[in-house]
Amino acid sequence: MRYYIQPLCGVEMAITISLVGNVYHLAGSFDEHLDLSPLAALPRPLHLSLAEVESINSHGVRAWLVFIQDNFQAQLFFHNCSSPFIDMANMMEGFLYWGPRVDRVKSVILPFICEKCAKSSNISIAADKVKFFQGGAMVPAQRCPTCAVNLTCETDLGEYFAFMTLK
Ligand SMILES: [Zn+2]
Repeated sequence: MRYYIQPLCGVEMAITISLVGNVYHLAGSFDEHLDLSPLAALPRPLHLSLAEVESINSHGVRAWLVFIQDNFQAQLFFHNCSSPFIDMANMMEGFLYWGPRVDRVKSVILPFICEKCAKSSNISIAADKVKFFQGGAMVPAQRCPTCAVNLTCETDLGEYFAFMTLK
């Protein structure tokens, strides 16, 4: 069952919010039209999927930071975080939590490529499966569904997961 939180007629929406299972999926851009007020009334814990957050500009960041500050004590969990979302988490203090550190990121989307098939794919990786070592990070090996060769991750994992190592 999928239901949508409807925007008011004629109001330009930056994102759509839809419920799939117990997770609210945010899709679109965080920009000057971002309105997160529909989330305020939803029960906690609140699980958000951010796989379809495509871009975030400075207006969107401000609206998001207000949401994080307003919910600093709330049980918020972020699933399937897209790379624009993670880039912002790495760049900006307070993007994931405000006040005492809270581990809210449950999983992230990582870009992989099969070098044999020359095929790219985005795969969700659980945050608790990420292993850190001196100067870097690693995630469990992913196999190509077509040829079973190990996929190559197309991003610098140490940099990508820097937000998890902040004290
Ligand atoms: Zn392959």
